This record gives sequence, structure tokens and C-alpha cells, in this order.
Amino acid sequence: MSDRRLEAAAVGAGRLSDFDAVVIGAGAAGLYMLHRLRGLGFSARVFEQGGGVGGTWYWNRYPGARCDVESWDYCYSFSEELEQEWDWSERYPTQAELERYFNYVADRFGLRGDIRFGTRVERARFDEGRNRWVIDTSDGATILARFLVSAAGCLSEVHKPSIPGAETFAGIQHHTARWPAEGVDVAGRRVGVIGTGSSGVQVIPQVAKTAERVFVFQRTAQYAVPARNRPLDDEARRERRDSFRARQEFKRTTPAGLSRPLAPASSDLDAAARAQILESAWQHGGPGFALTFDDILTEPASNERAARFVRDKIKAKIDDPGVAEKLAEIQFPIGARRLIVDIDYFETYNRPNVTLVDVKAAPITEITPRGVRTSEGHYDLDVLVYATGFDGMTGALLSMDIRGVGGLALRDKWADGAATYLGLAASGFPNLFMITGPGSPAVLSNMMLSIEQHVDWIADCLAHMAESGFERIDADAQAEARWTRHVDELAAQSLVGKTDSWWTGANIPGKRRGITMYLGGTHNYRAACDEVAANGYEGFTLTRPTDPP
Ligand code: NAP
Repeated sequence: MSDRRLEAAAVGAGRLSDFDAVVIGAGAAGLYMLHRLRGLGFSARVFEQGGGVGGTWYWNRYPGARCDVESWDYCYSFSEELEQEWDWSERYPTQAELERYFNYVADRFGLRGDIRFGTRVERARFDEGRNRWVIDTSDGATILARFLVSAAGCLSEVHKPSIPGAETFAGIQHHTARWPAEGVDVAGRRVGVIGTGSSGVQVIPQVAKTAERVFVFQRTAQYAVPARNRPLDDEARRERRDSFRARQEFKRTTPAGLSRPLAPASSDLDAAARAQILESAWQHGGPGFALTFDDILTEPASNERAARFVRDKIKAKIDDPGVAEKLAEIQFPIGARRLIVDIDYFETYNRPNVTLVDVKAAPITEITPRGVRTSEGHYDLDVLVYATGFDGMTGALLSMDIRGVGGLALRDKWADGAATYLGLAASGFPNLFMITGPGSPAVLSNMMLSIEQHVDWIADCLAHMAESGFERIDADAQAEARWTRHVDELAAQSLVGKTDSWWTGANIPGKRRGITMYLGGTHNYRAACDEVAANGYEGFTLTRPTDPP
């Protein structure tokens, strides 16, 4: 049956609705986008595959899950009332506290009524005749929308490596990002954890507290700096609330969107000054350690000084010199992969029930009904935890079948790498916006700040279109090519672009290697987006219904 006839059938069955905008995802980005759309008087519908709001903080329920950006930096700033009403209890918020926060926001702004939970967007195609997106959802509905906004997230598409025999495991197995809400009782059980990225580093100390044995399968040793988490007392909360607006303004002027002071270049300092700065950053704790010197990601010598400092700190925490060596044998520049922030991670290896298994030296060969086999032996397990990460940046977008002008599939357009204009739009996909899409600072920044910046930019663009009578916007191919080249050039100057990680797509077999995030800093990125808007959406073609085709 033709698409039009399918639609006609859908209308007949009452399954077709028409909205100004459809938003994919009810995480931090989707919630705020919906709020702004409502403010513009747009009719909108959000589709969320999870059973509740919060996105990342709905799905990642594993023990120890916690944000490593400070609570008062990782929250919305669009509402002064919200900022006054909400209190954070710790320096770094737990998954549970963040989920409560996003639920509070959904209720506070009455957003739930426009969200369809448990519903995935499966397909979306742009109908050029009507300038409408035709969207098919997993519940069998077809929806028309003038605008389609992806708030699907940068880390939503789970990556589970294909290991021979994985389906035969007879015990309990879960990916950290699909952890059951009711939890998993690991008490007295033998637990295996594959993966030592941010998720593995958080879950391992927690399961080690009650499990009989924990086997950590480590392929790549990683830097981690202490979180130095602590509860916030009344005084600390008052101080943060009072300084919130000023901190928010300051964050907008910084490369990563954090409220840390800007750093000096390592090469401008003598050895004593450098050592003092590194030690004080270590004592302060948190992800800002990667920003200790402003040349840390560009100057190999500066990077190596900070890297050596952390490797020595790691070794000093471990009782067994052989284990210490394996944990501190880190062979990439610090900060070139997402710097991990830990709470008692390395100390956990001093427990008698925790064993580090080096699967770089002796790789995992198969999963059996009873556990994990490496080239050196078999590990009997009751529970297997996959802390193996995500198909980042593009995974969630490409898990849907999105087709633009002429039926071009986004998957085909991006077969050789994601090309976007400003990380907000893709040429040939009119009226589609991406929040924190590839080509924007995204996960290299404070996500809440970047989400608000994108949502505000999109909302302002939609308001401009409505006021000026435009019904269609598409990024120009040349503007997209220029921006994508700029993103690539910035990546080439940084140590980040030269290191294998999920940031460079190296964790996904067959994925084109290359960093898809904008490395020029959120402050410069914001200026570039503002300039495009101020120049009448330069690099975009805007069309009125009366314009000739
Ligand atoms: P990740 O950083 O991609 O780590 C995945 C881990 O799984 C790596 O150690 C990887 O080893 C290992 N792995 C994958 N396939 C394997 C295989 N076949 N055999 C052995 N090991 C294998 O994923 P993640 O830890 O979920 O973190 C992803 C991102 O999510 C983070 O970078 C961060 O942006 C975000 N996150 C943030 C927080 C937070 O705010 N605190 C917490 C969790 C996650 P290799 O390194 O050798 O590939």
C-alpha cells in the first residue's frame, strides 16, 4: 500500500494525529523542549521509549550510578522558581536524586500529558509535498508533524559486544544501562564485570560490598580521579543557590561549561607551581582535573606530566604491586578519553573478594553457561554485568529509520561519518533539529548547559519562522560541509582525536573512526550559533508556502 493510502487507513482507524512538533525522548532535553514549544503555543507530542522521564537517569539504575558533574551545575537554569524550590543533597547527585528531579520538573511544569511513554519512534520520513514529517511509532500510530526534534540523547544506544556464547549464560546478566528497577541481589554471589569505563568504575565498588567474589575483566586501564563527594549542608546549599545566577553566567564563558576557574598553560609555570596545581586539583576532585592546564589536551609534555601524577597516585592506593601495575599501566594521554571520576574504585582492589583479570593479556574467548572463559582460564559466575558502554552520538539517531528529501536515509547520508550544520541540523532533512547532535560540543561539555542552549536556539528559530511566515528550514550543503570540516580540523589538533575510545567511535565494530564533537569550546560554539541566528539563519534556506519550489 502507498504511504498516502496507509495514512488514509490510519486516519480512518483514528490512529493519525497532526502536531506542530514531535519530540523524540523525555530526558533533560525533551522535557525542556516540550516546555519551550508550549510557551510558543505549539501543539507538541513527546515519544519516550522508557516508562518514565529522565532519559539517561531513567535507564542507568545500576548500583553506584551518579553524575560526575556537580549537582548545582547539572540542573536547569531556565526557571528561577525551580532553582529556588529544588535542593540538592550531595556534591554529586545520585541517579535516584536526578530521576526525582526530572519527575519534579515534569510535574512542576505539567508536561506529562503530552508525553507518550513506552513508545518508540521507529520511522520518520519527510513529505516534501506537505512539508510534514510522517512519523511511525512502535504502538502502530502514524503522526504528522511540521517539525521533528530529536532529544534522543548522546548515550542512549546500548553497546553489548558480541562475544561467542553470550546467549548461553545461565546466570543473571544485565547491561548497566538496562539495570532492572527492582535491583539485582548480588549478596553472596560470584559477579563478573566486563568494562572499566565510567559505568564499570561506579558499579564495581558497590557490588564488591556484598558479593562473594568479583572478577573485573579489564581490557584497557583507565585514569580516574577521586570525586570527593560529600553531603551538602544548609550553609553550602545557601551559598550555591545565592551564587547560582553568577555561576551560570560564568559557565557560559568557559570551554566546558563548568564553573571552574580557567586554567593557566603548563608551559608558563615552573615545576613547583605545576606540582602544587596538580595536587590541589587532585584534592578538589572531579572531572575538572582534565582542565588543570589549558594546554593539557594539545601539548604532549603537559599531558604527560598530569598523566604521570595520576598514575603515581593510583599506584599508591593499591596494596598488591602486581595489581597496581596493571591498573596504572595506562597507555593513552589523560583526558583523551572521558576522564573517569571515582568513589573508592582503586581501594576496592585491596578487598580479598575482588580479582582483576587482565583481558588485554588474555582476551575473553567465550561466554559459557557457567561464566566467562579467557585464553588463560574459566571464571565461574552467577551474575554477569556488562559495563560495555554505548554507540555514542549517532547510535540513537541511526537506530530509527529517518528519511529526508528524496527518501535519503540518514544512515546512508552518514555512512562515512556524521555531517551536520552546527550539530543542530542535517542538510536534506528539513525541519529536523537535533539537540546536542554530532558536530556540537555535546558530551564534551556540561550537558545541561548545552541542552538549554540548543533548545533555546531551536525555540527562537521556530518563533522566527512563525513570525515571518516560513514553513520550512533546511541546512545548506555548503554550510554543512564547512562546519563539518571545521569540527574535523579542531579534532585533528587535539590528543582526543588521536585516541581510540567511544568518543572516536572506536568501540563500535564497523563505525567510521573520527570524533564527532565540536572541540572549540562551548563559549565559542555558542557565539557561532548566535551569529548564525543574528544573520538571519545564515547557512540555512528558509522557505515560505508561497515560494516557488
Ligand atoms: P565506556 O567508557 O565505553 O566503557 C566501556 C568499557 O567496556 C571499556 O572498559 C571497554 O574496554 C569495555 N569493553 C567493551 N567491550 C569489551 C570486550 N569485548 N571485552 C572487554 N572489555 C570490553 O562505557 P561507560 O563506562 O558506560 O561510559 C560511557 C560514557 O557514559 C562515559 O564516558 C560518560 O560520558 C558517560 N557516563 C557518565 C557517568 C557519570 O557521570 N559518572 C557514569 C557512567 C557513564 P576498552 O576500553 O578496552 O574498549
